[in-house]
Amino acid sequence: MYFFLGGDKDKDIQYIKGIGPRNKSLLKRKKINNIHDLLSFYPRDYEDRRNLVKIAQLNSGEFTIKGTITDISKIKKGRLIIINVILQDDTGTISLTFFNQKYLYEVFKLDKEVIASGKVEFNFGRLSMVNPDWSFVDGENKMKINFNRIIPLYPLTEGLTQVKMRGFIFNTLTEFREDIIDPIPEEIRERYDLPSEKLGVIRTHFPKSNAVFHDVKNFQTDFQNRLIFDEIFYLQYYWKKRKANIEATKGIAFEMKRDELIPFISKLPFKFTNAQEKVLQEIFEDMQRPVPMNRLLQGDVGSGKTIVSLIAMLNAHLNGYQSAIMVPTEVLAQQHYLKIKEMLSGHDINIEVLYSKMPKKEMRQIKEDLKAGIVHIIIGTHALFSQDVEFNKLGFAVIDEQHRFGVKQRMDLIGKGVRPDVLVMSATPIPRSIAQTVYGDMDYSVIDEMPAGRKIIETRIVRKDKKIIYDYIKMALERNELIYIVYPLIEETEKIDLLSAKEGVEEFSKIFGAENVGLLHGKMKSREKIQIMAEFSKGKIKILVSTTVIEVGIDVSEATLMVIMNSERFGLSQLHQLRGRVGRSEKHSTCLLYTELKHNKRLNIMANNMDGFKIALEDFKLRGPGDILGTIQSGFPMFKLFNPFLHRDIIEKGRNAVNFIFDNYGSFEHEKLKGINTILDELYGSHDFIEVL
Ligand code: ADP
Ligand code: MG
Repeated sequence: MYFFLGGDKDKDIQYIKGIGPRNKSLLKRKKINNIHDLLSFYPRDYEDRRNLVKIAQLNSGEFTIKGTITDISKIKKGRLIIINVILQDDTGTISLTFFNQKYLYEVFKLDKEVIASGKVEFNFGRLSMVNPDWSFVDGENKMKINFNRIIPLYPLTEGLTQVKMRGFIFNTLTEFREDIIDPIPEEIRERYDLPSEKLGVIRTHFPKSNAVFHDVKNFQTDFQNRLIFDEIFYLQYYWKKRKANIEATKGIAFEMKRDELIPFISKLPFKFTNAQEKVLQEIFEDMQRPVPMNRLLQGDVGSGKTIVSLIAMLNAHLNGYQSAIMVPTEVLAQQHYLKIKEMLSGHDINIEVLYSKMPKKEMRQIKEDLKAGIVHIIIGTHALFSQDVEFNKLGFAVIDEQHRFGVKQRMDLIGKGVRPDVLVMSATPIPRSIAQTVYGDMDYSVIDEMPAGRKIIETRIVRKDKKIIYDYIKMALERNELIYIVYPLIEETEKIDLLSAKEGVEEFSKIFGAENVGLLHGKMKSREKIQIMAEFSKGKIKILVSTTVIEVGIDVSEATLMVIMNSERFGLSQLHQLRGRVGRSEKHSTCLLYTELKHNKRLNIMANNMDGFKIALEDFKLRGPGDILGTIQSGFPMFKLFNPFLHRDIIEKGRNAVNFIFDNYGSFEHEKLKGINTILDELYGSHDFIEVL
């Protein structure tokens, strides 16, 4: 991804020594289609095979041994063919057992010296290894690649083995190592102590013989760090370039219409928290600058982000500009619409909502009004991206629940204004240093305080005991409070999941009366969804059974009980989002995590933590950062090696290098940066931010 290949780079990988058509199709499953993919398919872990252990010294665990073959036998057990080899060194013997590799009987020869690595087992006092990696000591490449060194371990797919994979990569490196071209200019490499890309690639696959294993395993050698530097550097470079472009663009210098905002603010049923005040101040300062605002607002579920964005939109309106809020689901769009409309009643502001499944006639009308400037604030889903949505004078764009949208979509909406101010809101709290890496082009605000009076949500893991759930529901109903019951929805099994939600409706209807229970799921028509939500928020339905469509942002303050079925199937941030749907009033709220499992780490974390930042941190540790960073910033190349907990200093280095280039090369279009720019084009593709912003 971060280097060029010269030479015969378009060579079909099936002609690499050892690959062939069959392996080619296996590799394809791992998204390896060409030589470049193969070389940038990095190990996920390593094993130290530099120490040979004497057979007499073996105990249980993974070991590498060397010995001479003293016996070879073949046993048939039904369909199974077992090859057994006895290996001897000057301290003892061990048997190597191979299942279903009949050909080995012909391959092994008495008195040949073999090296083998695998898990040692004790069977009735006899030592053995089952299906170990092995090589003849005079086996040339196989020996060189797999033994007496730190070996790479790759993420595999069925049919591929570590030995095969190592061989493919080794052979590819042998043929192409000299063709790995580094796009980063030499003077930058020298300045920041970076080994060449070529050495980075080679030594990440096959670490130096004297490398410290601990460093290799933790991806902290200079060579691995070079590749990690690339992951950070290109992203930072991209952000810097974008930011420079934004800053060089003329945006709207809004006036602060404080006096005109007061009538609205004074009518709110609460006072802003200090954190909300601070963030509003930051937003207002941005709005007044003649440069487009590009700000990320993070705040835990329920911290009150919506109202902050609404004040900013009102200010835009008072300056004669339209605003747009983009949200990930129809239900949420509708809810925002109703709430905001209510909050703004009595003010002369025209608000509309737009989503793709709405009646065509209505949609056409809204689009016309938007173009004519009759609509002042538009709330919508992805439908707002569509080509034929035109604004009269878009000045302020809000993107809610950012993790559901990709950067490209953000660009599409922004492209619709002259140079609108943009506020991106996210409830997936991540540590600041990481936020700056993944959202590096944006300024950063955080609401780190919850509105006063929020109670702790009692969180209980319920194991297999439905009665506890019925009891809680009963009590909530007696207090005339509302209840969510959520079933997991995983796309591939959508039908089954929907079935279990439907069964849930039956189950709860029988006990609590059908008139009290409603169902909400993703496959319903928008109208039906909206109607159900309205009935629920008015209390006509008391128990809302739902698949995860309610996850994001729904706000019904009378709901005090959240029951999550098969809760082990949800991710931590999802669980946190769901739990945040209750505890929205003075009343005591409860979240029940139902599971059939005996033990689940994620559920324990939920039961012991309320703070979204802490939960996110635990999530990072549990799932690994690559996975999470990937979901946060969809549409971007994934980090393969970067780990924010281990590589903080590389973030710093990457940023310094980018700033150095910015300060010293005069322009990002400098001749020496040609390679970098080409890579950037490949990475971030066709969405040309220079045109958009
Ligand atoms: P989120 O940050 O998750 O989007 P919302 O904006 O939906 O949170 O706010 C959650 C609830 O808290 C809403 O009902 C909102 O009206 C209310 N709220 C917002 N700010 C305050 C505040 N300062 N004091 C009390 N309640 C508030
Ligand atoms: Mg929200």
